[in-house]
Amino acid sequence: MNSSVPNKKGGISVETAHIFPVIKKWLYSEKDIFLREIVSNACDAITKLKRLASLGQYDGGDETYRVDVVLDKDAKTLTVSDNGIGMTADELDRYICQIALSGALEFVEKYEGDNKNNGIIGHFGLGFYSSFMVSDRVEVITKSYTDTPAVYWDCNTDGEYESAAGERDAHGTTVIMHISDEEAAYLEKAKIEDILDRYCAFMPVEIYFSVEDDEKDPKAEDGKEPEVPKPINDTTPLWLKNPSDCTDEEYKEFYRKVFHDYREPLFWIHVNADYPLNFRGILYFPRLANEYESIEGQVKLYYNQVFVADNIKEVIPEYLLMLKGVLDCPELPLNVSRSYLQNNTYVSKVSAHIVKKVADKLNSLCNVSREEYEKVWNDIRAFVEYACMRDRKFYDRVKDSLLMELTDGTYTTTADYLEKAKEKHENTVYYTSDKAAQAQYISMFASQEISIAVYDKQLDAQFLSMLESYDSNVKYLRIDADIAGALKNEGDTTANEELEKLFKKVAENEQLKVEFASLKDESVPVLLTISEQSRRMEEMMRMYGMSGMGAYPLEATLTVNLASSLIQKLDGMEDAKKETTAAYLYRLALLSQRKLNAEELKAFLRDSYNVLELL
Ligand code: ADP
Repeated sequence: MNSSVPNKKGGISVETAHIFPVIKKWLYSEKDIFLREIVSNACDAITKLKRLASLGQYDGGDETYRVDVVLDKDAKTLTVSDNGIGMTADELDRYICQIALSGALEFVEKYEGDNKNNGIIGHFGLGFYSSFMVSDRVEVITKSYTDTPAVYWDCNTDGEYESAAGERDAHGTTVIMHISDEEAAYLEKAKIEDILDRYCAFMPVEIYFSVEDDEKDPKAEDGKEPEVPKPINDTTPLWLKNPSDCTDEEYKEFYRKVFHDYREPLFWIHVNADYPLNFRGILYFPRLANEYESIEGQVKLYYNQVFVADNIKEVIPEYLLMLKGVLDCPELPLNVSRSYLQNNTYVSKVSAHIVKKVADKLNSLCNVSREEYEKVWNDIRAFVEYACMRDRKFYDRVKDSLLMELTDGTYTTTADYLEKAKEKHENTVYYTSDKAAQAQYISMFASQEISIAVYDKQLDAQFLSMLESYDSNVKYLRIDADIAGALKNEGDTTANEELEKLFKKVAENEQLKVEFASLKDESVPVLLTISEQSRRMEEMMRMYGMSGMGAYPLEATLTVNLASSLIQKLDGMEDAKKETTAAYLYRLALLSQRKLNAEELKAFLRDSYNVLELL
């Protein structure tokens, strides 16, 4: 015992005593963070000592700095020790018994009522006293680098502590947490490994984990060399490196390690924002297995290499959370509420910077590595389209880099499509939403050498409406919509009242619009089209589950092709035959438009039998 450290007993004052039970009960789902707090304190203590050494105020020789986490199941303790700056008796009293305690108290008072625990991000700010979430007694043995006597401190959950002279030869601090019976799960090796991997994987000082009563290396008995223990963390994560010093292989390796995703990412963005934003990170565009896989990313937020939380939408716009990546923001105010972050100008600047970087990357791929960009387009397009829909500014940045796939498998931009098409049709993009179902229309367009874009994803209908609302000059028309204009010859539109009546009759639809034109493709006798607007309305109603309440009427138009020999023959037919033929033609037009419903299918079969009778 060293006599220069006075023995001291203390009690936490009445008003502060209540924080122990609160800390214990509180943050039920976030208890894991206690280890992050204690281990990051240990790293900080070493970083501080290293800084003193670099300033010439301390000479540690060739000392190697490390943090050790030791689990002892028999003793029911988890111990974290460091060879950092350590504390004198005065410092321990000031930092642990006063500052840390009042900090924890302030934190608890601020967030005690927030039992959903979503008011604060990553639960930063609870600090040293978070160890009491899982322990019913915590001991500290510390010795300052200034070579003052070591100090021992022992505190239980009633808030009673004792400090005395401690026994410790070298500078540094050891924190022994006596895990309470209710929290015995924290005596499991796998659990501790898990927490260390999640929270401490990139802390700046080497951290070693061991289990005290582990059987001594069994291999040693065979005369083999025991394995050299490896730190559980990577002290210089890739995001800290200069992007120009990182290789593709390093980026891929980092991705595999952090996200446990065996598929290679499509590409990545290394953000390196200097003053005043001062944050770093790497964002990956993940490869998706198939289009049905949910696009759920993971963006991990760090604070000076200490893990805070996943997917913090206050810092990164929610639509970018489909990416996978890491962000290290040492300037972020973390011990504040989420609503504060939402209105924080620094946070919104970080967020805007990330959006800009993502847009820049897409533009540079489109302009500089077009071939590579086309290869990944189908993988990223759902993400890009969604982002455009969520954020007009993002759309404005990337609008010239939005590709469309054509039915022949090539890719183009809207501007290039319109430029190429301008002799045939102006400011209209024709598209198909289903290559198989709309095959008849596709072949009609193909014979006119009109290119067709493929917009066949769930999101596309909304995406196209959005494009039209942003740029009202360009129309998107599905190839079975108001398209007759693109497919007919000038001239002959002689109406035939009798045929009009006949088709309305066989369609059993008085609202059917019947038009007459000479189509360029003579093989098609009648063409059924649905107005783009009415179809979109109907789709929207269906999406909101409102189709039952009197569906929005689809405006259908039947274009009778005066150039078709079959239509020309109709006139000369006797009435019964004429009606049978017209009915059959109408059903065929309907069939090439969409799937028939039960009634329509029955009518189609009936018409088919009637036609066979005529043979
Ligand atoms: P914070 O780390 O946010 O300051 P804590 O409650 O975690 O708050 O710690 C309070 C203070 O106690 C620290 O600022 C530090 O001065 C001191 N401290 C805690 N752990 C250690 C340690 N392992 N070595 C040296 N000092 C420590």
